Amino acid sequence: MIYDFGVVGGGIAGVSAAYELAEHGSVLLLETENVMGYHATGRSAALFTRNFGGPVVRRINDASASFFAQPPSGFCDSPLLSARGCLTVASAGFEEELKPLLAMSQAGEIVCRIDPKEALERVPFLRPERVQGAVYEANVSDIDVASLHQGYIKGARMRGAEMLVKQGVLRISRDAGAWLIETANNSFRALHIINAAGAWADEIGALVGARSVGLVPKRRTGILIKAPNEIVCAKLPAIDFAGTDAYMKPDAGRLMVSPGDATPSGPMDAWADDMDIAVLADWIESETLIKVPKIEHSWAGLRSFVPDEAPVVGFDHGVPNFFWLAGQGGYGIMMAPVLAKLTADLCTKANSEISTEFAVALSPARFNSFAK
Ligand SMILES: Cc1cc2nc3c(=O)[nH]c(=O)nc-3n(C[C@H](O)[C@H](O)[C@H](O)COP(=O)(O)OP(=O)(O)OC[C@H]3O[C@@H](n4cnc5c(N)ncnc54)[C@H](O)[C@@H]3O)c2cc1C
Repeated sequence: MIYDFGVVGGGIAGVSAAYELAEHGSVLLLETENVMGYHATGRSAALFTRNFGGPVVRRINDASASFFAQPPSGFCDSPLLSARGCLTVASAGFEEELKPLLAMSQAGEIVCRIDPKEALERVPFLRPERVQGAVYEANVSDIDVASLHQGYIKGARMRGAEMLVKQGVLRISRDAGAWLIETANNSFRALHIINAAGAWADEIGALVGARSVGLVPKRRTGILIKAPNEIVCAKLPAIDFAGTDAYMKPDAGRLMVSPGDATPSGPMDAWADDMDIAVLADWIESETLIKVPKIEHSWAGLRSFVPDEAPVVGFDHGVPNFFWLAGQGGYGIMMAPVLAKLTADLCTKANSEISTEFAVALSPARFNSFAK
C-alpha cells in the first residue's frame, strides 16, 4: 500500500496533523518510542495563553483558542481548558518589566495591574518585600494535554489513520514515485512525508537531503515540590517573576517550578541537571517563604526553536513532497490545533483563513531552504 501521508513523530504535532490529514487521505504515523507523547509533549507546563511568544505565535495561539473552547463533538470527555490565571510579580527595580505585558491587554484578554497586597492575598507564600508591583491575567488556562493528545490519536484512528510505536525512521529514499520509509524491521511507502519529529526534525530533513532549518533544541527543567500546607494549591494562579525566566504553577496538589532555562542541547531524552535543580531550590527559598526539604520529582524537556522562534510549517523548497512541521518552541501544545489545520490545508491546497494568514509567515522558504 502507498499511504498519502507518512507522519514522522507521535508528539502533539504529529498526532494533530494525522487527525487533520486523515480527513483527506490515508495516513501512517511512525513513532520511535514505546509510547506516543514521551518527549516534549509529555513534559510541558500545560499552559494556554494568548500573551506568550512573538507576534506570529500570539496570533496562532489566539486562532487556536476556539478549538480548545469547543473541540469537535466526541473529541474528549471533559473540557480541554480550565481556568488558572497568571500573576506576574516584580521586585524593586523590576517594575518597568511589567509594562510590555500590560501593553498586551485587549478586549477579552485583559491584563491589569493589581495592588501588591492583593497579589500577596492570592499567593500568601510570596515574600512581601519582593512584591513591589503585580499584574494579573485572568485568561491564562491549564491545558489537559493528555486529553488533547489522546483525543487526536483516537480521532485520527477513527478516521482510518494507522499509528505505530517502536518504529523509529532510519532511512527515507525515493522509490518508484513515492517515499520509501525504513525502520529497523519494516518498510512503508507514502506520497508525502510530514516531518513532525520535534527535536529530531533537522535529522529527518537530512535523511532526504533537505537543508537544515537551523533547529536548536533547548533544555527546560521542571521540578515538583510540596505546596505549603496552608495553601489551597488548586486555587493558586500560575506565577511569573519579572526580570527572571522562572515560573511556578499548581500541578495536581503540588507546585511545579521551572527556572525557565533554555540550555542548547542535541536531540536526546533530556534529563534535569543536578546543579540546575540545586540552584532552583535555593532560588525558591530566597524568592518565596517556601522551604524545599525535598524535590518530589524532576524532569527536563526540549523546546526546539529556529532562529526567528516561529514554527516552520510548509513544503520544503528543494525536496518535493517533504513537509516541515517543526520548531514549535515553548508553545507547541497551544498552537497545535492551528498548525495541524494549516498542515492539512497546505497538503490539500485548500484556501482557508488559516492558510491565508499563516502560510507565508511560517514557510520554510524563509530560510532559503534548497536541496543540497
Ligand atoms: C518544560 C517545558 C514546558 C513547556 N510548557 C509549554 C506550555 O505551557 N504550553 C505549550 O503550548 N507548550 C509548552 N512546551 C512546549 C511543547 O511541549 C512543545 O512545543 C511540543 O510538545 C512539541 O511537540 P512535538 O510533537 O513537535 O515534539 P515531541 O513531543 O518531542 O514529539 C516528537 C516525536 O518525534 C519522535 N521521533 C523523533 N525522531 C523520530 C524518528 N526517527 N522516527 C520516529 N519518531 C521519531 C520522538 O520520539 C517524539 O515522540 C513546553 C515544553 C517544555 C519542555
